Amino acid sequence: MESQKQFKRRFSFEFFPPKTDQGKDKLQVVRDRLAGVNPDFFSVTFGAGGSTRDRTVETVLNLHKQGISTAPHLSCVGGTRESVAELLDLYKANGINRIVALRGDLPSGMGASGELRYANELVEFIREHSGDTFNIEVAAYPEFHPQARNAEDDLKNFARKVQAGANSAITQYFFNPDSYFYFIDRLEKMNVTIPVVPGIMPIVNFSSLVRFSDMCGADIPRWIRKQLEAYGDDTDSIRKFGEEVITDMCQKLLDAGVPGLHFYTLNQAEPSINIWQYLGISEREKIAF
Ligand code: FAD
Repeated sequence: MESQKQFKRRFSFEFFPPKTDQGKDKLQVVRDRLAGVNPDFFSVTFGAGGSTRDRTVETVLNLHKQGISTAPHLSCVGGTRESVAELLDLYKANGINRIVALRGDLPSGMGASGELRYANELVEFIREHSGDTFNIEVAAYPEFHPQARNAEDDLKNFARKVQAGANSAITQYFFNPDSYFYFIDRLEKMNVTIPVVPGIMPIVNFSSLVRFSDMCGADIPRWIRKQLEAYGDDTDSIRKFGEEVITDMCQKLLDAGVPGLHFYTLNQAEPSINIWQYLGISEREKIAF
């Protein structure tokens, strides 16, 4: 973990672009609540194949102009160099300086993978097209990507993204901090040293958490799964238990010297803000070791 302690801590919140006017109004309320704790940035997801293109752009520009730096996610699968370049130019023109660069996942039957097949190719293209305009974040998988041939290959593929010009990474969420510590250890042995910020998923709904975790390859430890199952429809108990478990995990990560936390908010303020407050994250916490 030594390599991670040198980086200044940053804290961020991720949103998805709302579909309806009601969703937009709700996001504004969530944004205002989260802006109150002064995070370093917000980020907004991007549907693979461009399915949320316009909504992502609209949400990013709207959040960015309200004063908290906002990073668009940009996935390359199913797209063309031209369509990516258009977005990069638009973001640059609007003062955006951070991008989360991803491959994305095309829903089955949605056609070919496009001109840029992997995230390392996207990072390379962003550097080629936009130079150093953007701070580039990439995805990291402490429990390994579900399609990776093996752990070794996945680590090498992560290193390719760094070689292509990524500045830092955000992890897929996990509930076992040892997977993160081991991942960092492996990167250190490969001399790959960029900040790798843990992605934190608050626990609010058991069935959707199980569905999503199965899809993205995040392991829910048996003791957490069993406890959540026992709560059934008792959402208050699920939330309370989830907040305790996630707060404990974040504290362990912060104590070990992680370079920040990135919260998957699912466009809800309370679960993330409660964890934030239990942790007592303040300006002091943001200072590097
Ligand atoms: P890559 O790094 O390209 O890796 C994908 C797979 O291919 C891995 O198994 C890897 O080992 C392998 N691989 C990589 N490079 C090569 C290569 N050169 N040759 C052979 N194999 C290779 N998805 C969205 O659609 N929109 C979002 O907004 C979004 N946001 C995300 C944010 C975060 C922080 C994270 C962790 C994930 C996010 N995702 C998002 C999900 C992500 O798009 C998927 O996990 C996707 O399957 C992989 O994207 P990647 O950028 O990690 O791909």
